[in-house]
Amino acid sequence: MGSVKEYFTSLGSGIASLIKGMQVTGKEFVTPKITERYPEDRETRHVPQRFRAILRLIYDNDGNHKCIACGTCERVCPNGTIHLDTKMVDTLAGTKKKKLDNYMYDLGSCTFCQLCVTNCPTNAIDFSNDFEQAVFTRGKLVKKLNYLPEKEEPAPTPEQLAAAAAEREAKIAAAKAKAAAAKAAREAAEGASASASDAKAPEAPQTENKNQ
Ligand code: SF4
Ligand code: SF4
Repeated sequence: MGSVKEYFTSLGSGIASLIKGMQVTGKEFVTPKITERYPEDRETRHVPQRFRAILRLIYDNDGNHKCIACGTCERVCPNGTIHLDTKMVDTLAGTKKKKLDNYMYDLGSCTFCQLCVTNCPTNAIDFSNDFEQAVFTRGKLVKKLNYLPEKEEPAPTPEQLAAAAAEREAKIAAAKAKAAAAKAAREAAEGASASASDAKAPEAPQTENKNQ
């Protein structure tokens, strides 16, 4: 008798389990699919704007970027992912200025921490959400971010250099004259103060000679 009862109990349990399984299957059958049909849906696929796929140098419509070659991004990167080549150029003001030559970025060692982006003083770089970056060799993961030719600074003419030098000399002379005038005024004020304190000083008391 006991074995008959056990038989029907386990049969009921099996049927209940089967119904539960069919419920799960039926629910998933009518739930909207979330599997991406990549690459067939490449044209219509939505990638969130904040997705960090690869670092890029931001160019404006005229082909200019805002990188001033300060090297901050290279210094703050914890992985040595960024390497900058720079050069010094003459400016119209007659001084030297650092200029970007090559901005090299190794996507293979980037951890997308974004320290370079947040520390850039000119907002010259950001992350693109272009996720299709697969290549066959590691070497191809090293990218030159300033892919447009760097624009040459117009070289200063000898007249501009001479004018800039004269302007510098004039500024230095004016600064020296100002410092000398300030020093003379300070010394005059100190002298006047010393004279005034001498005039106010009390006369020393005369001591009586008791031996006379
Ligand atoms: S990208 Fe920004 S932080 Fe990096 S060198 Fe250029 S200006 Fe400096
Ligand atoms: S995101 Fe981080 S790891 Fe990648 S280049 Fe910038 S600082 Fe380096």
